[in-house]
Amino acid sequence: MEDDLGNWRRTHYSEELNADIEEDVTIAGWVHEIRDLGGVMFLIIRDRKGKVQVTLPEKKVKDKLMDKISEISKESVLMVQGQVKEDERAPGGLEVLPKEIKVLSDAETPLPIDVAGEVNTELDNRLNSRFLDLRNPETLSVFKIRDKTFTEVRKFLEKEGFIEMTSPKMVATATEGGTELFPISYFEKEAFLNQSPQLFKQIMMASGLDKVYEIGPIFRAEEHDTRRHLNETTSIDIEMAFSDHTDVMGILERLINYVYEKIEQECSEELKKLDKDLKPPELPFERIKYDEAVDICNKKGIEITWGEDFPTPGEKAIGEEIGDYYFIVDWPSEIKPFYAQPKEEKEISKAFDLMHPEFELSSGAQRVHSIELLKKRMINQDLEPSEFKFYLDAFKYGMPPHSGWGLGAERLLMAITGKPNIREVVLFPRDRKRLIP
Ligand code: ATP
Ligand code: MG
Repeated sequence: MEDDLGNWRRTHYSEELNADIEEDVTIAGWVHEIRDLGGVMFLIIRDRKGKVQVTLPEKKVKDKLMDKISEISKESVLMVQGQVKEDERAPGGLEVLPKEIKVLSDAETPLPIDVAGEVNTELDNRLNSRFLDLRNPETLSVFKIRDKTFTEVRKFLEKEGFIEMTSPKMVATATEGGTELFPISYFEKEAFLNQSPQLFKQIMMASGLDKVYEIGPIFRAEEHDTRRHLNETTSIDIEMAFSDHTDVMGILERLINYVYEKIEQECSEELKKLDKDLKPPELPFERIKYDEAVDICNKKGIEITWGEDFPTPGEKAIGEEIGDYYFIVDWPSEIKPFYAQPKEEKEISKAFDLMHPEFELSSGAQRVHSIELLKKRMINQDLEPSEFKFYLDAFKYGMPPHSGWGLGAERLLMAITGKPNIREVVLFPRDRKRLIP
């Protein structure tokens, strides 16, 4: 029989308990461990912030209470009312001596995965039971860091004068052309899930908002099955008027540095659980030219001809040489999107990539703000300008020069947490094989 919550409410999380609390406390959580030493029983109760021991000496505890918990299974949900006592034998030096216990929900046995994290469970199984996986303090640490990262990104951008925007995710045209789109049916029309807020944040540059940012989902129907790609991922995007690419590169490197510092200072417990030694990367990040990056690859036996993007082994080879975070600048215009502003030497663009030693973190550029040049570049890339009328219109009536970037939130979290698989840092990953849960 399960008990009713009634008027019981949690008074303290485990980490808020101390021996000076005289009144009865109410704790709530999951049964992490049960130990019956004959004569005395220990329950370890786990909540979001930690664990606490509940001690039941048989002689002192009412029979009714003893009976109630004699059948309890691991991971059942309990609330306990009782007295906090110091006891140096208890983990954390404290225990709760219960007066009443409510069993709010029984857990079935066996559990589909090991919650304590002592058994190495395959990622696939963990993702199938993500709610249980999150009861493992190591997994929980990743998501506490994720929460903190978004909070700090917002704080940083707000301090820099950015306004948060939200763009539609159901759209009629592709951002950059190409086929990496998920089609959806939109009443009698075909529509798509948006692959980037690019066009909308650029339109905002014609609105006078000057500096905008968006944190939201992007959808890419790429078939790849790698450790750093998802089909639905979170993008941190900015766009800034009256600026060139070097201005937004500065914002990007300072943002990364700031977030690292905050996580290092305020998530030390979580980093410890992940066994991660996080050091804010030094500013400014190194800037290498596309040509130099090509040379590094060729020297290391990864053949690249001018005008090609870097394949994964190429990115790794450059990362080994340069290390830490670095920018690749001066990209060939032809492999950057139509909206990237060319330099005076037209074949080079004012585009950049921010690289982590193992993968790309962000792409950005100064944008084309001349409507004539935009149309020309669209046609060059086999795009039909008339399909982009809603976008091009914004360039007709006063469009300031502007720049921006898109930073993959999950890639950033892989870098911060040291997790080698992107699926570890998102609650419910969407990939080629996974649509549930
Ligand atoms: P990559 O070459 O690594 O596949 P991209 O150049 O195709 O990335 P962009 O269109 O430049 O990606 O998107 C901006 C950023 O968004 C990337 O630098 C990356 O951090 C992130 N990103 C893009 N696609 C994905 C994806 N499928 N899964 C996870 N993150 C992604
Ligand atoms: Mg890119």
